Amino acid sequence: MMDGRGRMNEDIAVVVVGAGPAGSSAAEAAATLGVSVLMVDRKSEIGTPVQCGGFLPEASELQKLLPRARLPQTLSEIPERSILHRTRWQRVYSPSGGAKQFAVAGRVLDRRAFDRHLAARAARAGARVLPATRAKINEGAIEISGHFRGRIHPKVIIGADGPHSTVSRAMNNPPQEMGICLEYEMADVKIDPDAVEMYFSAHFAPGGYAWIIPTGQDTANVGVGVRASYLSGQSLPDILNRFVREHPIAGEMLAGGEILAVMRGPVPAGGSVAAIQKGNMLLAGDAAGQVMATSGGGIPLAVVAGRIAGEAAAGHLQDRMPLADYSSRIRDEFGIQLARSVQLRKMVDMSMRSDRLMNTLFAALSPAQIKSVMRAQIPEIFTSRAWQRDGSNQSD
Ligand SMILES: Cc1cc2nc3c(=O)[nH]c(=O)nc-3n(C[C@H](O)[C@H](O)[C@H](O)COP(=O)(O)OP(=O)(O)OC[C@H]3O[C@@H](n4cnc5c(N)ncnc54)[C@H](O)[C@@H]3O)c2cc1C
Repeated sequence: MMDGRGRMNEDIAVVVVGAGPAGSSAAEAAATLGVSVLMVDRKSEIGTPVQCGGFLPEASELQKLLPRARLPQTLSEIPERSILHRTRWQRVYSPSGGAKQFAVAGRVLDRRAFDRHLAARAARAGARVLPATRAKINEGAIEISGHFRGRIHPKVIIGADGPHSTVSRAMNNPPQEMGICLEYEMADVKIDPDAVEMYFSAHFAPGGYAWIIPTGQDTANVGVGVRASYLSGQSLPDILNRFVREHPIAGEMLAGGEILAVMRGPVPAGGSVAAIQKGNMLLAGDAAGQVMATSGGGIPLAVVAGRIAGEAAAGHLQDRMPLADYSSRIRDEFGIQLARSVQLRKMVDMSMRSDRLMNTLFAALSPAQIKSVMRAQIPEIFTSRAWQRDGSNQSD
C-alpha cells in the first residue's frame, strides 16, 4: 500500500479525515462492513494534545438524552484505563450563587486513552491509520502530506476533521458559529469530587458558562466557554483566571491549586451545518456542528454520527443505499435533540447579558427542569408569553 518513500499506491474506497471520536467510529463501522478505509490525522499522536473536559454521561443517561439514537457499544463499554473518574451529580450555579443539583451518573474520560482506544478498534476492524498526516481536498482528490504523502481518489470522503473542517469548506458550507474555550487541568484543588459543576455569570463567563469537572479527589478540569460577541475586549485567559481566583464559590476551591496543563479550543455552538452530505462527501461530529448547544458536549454525537457515516459510506459502496440517505439517518437518530438544544440556547441567550434576568430564570426552574434543559427538552416556562416578552426586552 505504501512505497518505500511513504507514498500511497493503492485503491482506497473511503478516506476518513480526522481520527477523533467521530473519525475512528466512522472508520471502524465502514471497515467492519468490509470496505477499504484509510483514516488520516495531522496529529503525531492520536488523541494528543487533548482539547476536552472529558465529561461523558453514563450510557443510561445518554439514552435519555438521545432517545432515538442507536448508541454504539463504544459509549457503554469503555475500558477502565480510559476513565479517570466517575461523578454522581451535576450542580448548576446562578450568578447570585444559588445552586441547584440533580443526579447524573457520569464518567470523566482520559481523552488521550479514549481516542487511541477508538483508533485501535478501527485498526483492528481493518482500517489503515496514518498519523502525522494532513489531508487537503483538491479537485475531488485527497492530497496527503506530512509523514505520509500521496494523492488518493476515494469513492467516499468522510470529514471528521473537527470544528474548522477542511472537508466542510470543500462542500461550501459557511464557517460555523463557535464558542471559544479555555481550560486548565488543575491539581491540589478542594472540589466536590462527586459533582460536575456549571457556573453562569455575565462577569465570570460572558455568553457561556464556566465548569469544574473532577478528574480525581483533588484534581479537575476547570474551564470557561464563551462566545466572542460577549467578550467586549476581555481576553479568555483574563476571564478564566478571574473565575479561578475571584469567583465567590469556585475561587474558594480553586485559588490554592496549581495548573498542570492549559487547553484551548473552539466548540460549535450553532447546531448542524447547512449540508452534511454533498456529492461523495459526508461530515460527522464537530465538523458537522453536531454538539449539544446547551452543554457543549460533543463526544456522544460524534460517536453516533461517526458510526452512521461509516455505515452510510459502506451501504452506498455496496449498493444498499444512496449516500444522500446519510442526512435523513442523522435526522432520525438525533436531529430533533440537536435542533432543540440550539433553540434552547437561543432562549437562554436572552438572559446571558443580564445577571438579574439569569437569576430570575434560575429561581423559576426546578432542578428537574434544569436537567430537562440540559437534555434539550423545553420546559413550559420557555414557551410562555411572559418569558418571551420579558426575556427579549432585557439588556442590562
Ligand atoms: C475545552 C473543551 C472542552 C470540552 N469538553 C467536553 C466535554 O467535557 N464533554 C464532551 O462531550 N465534549 C466536550 N468538548 C467537545 C468535544 O471535545 C468535541 O465535540 C469532540 O472532540 C468532537 O469529536 P470529533 O471527532 O468530531 O472532532 P475532534 O475530536 O476535534 O477530532 C478531529 C480530528 O481531526 C484532525 N484534523 C483536523 N483537520 C485535519 C486535516 N486537514 N488533516 C488531518 N487531520 C485533521 C484533528 O487533528 C483532530 O484529531 C470540549 C471541547 C473543548 C474545546
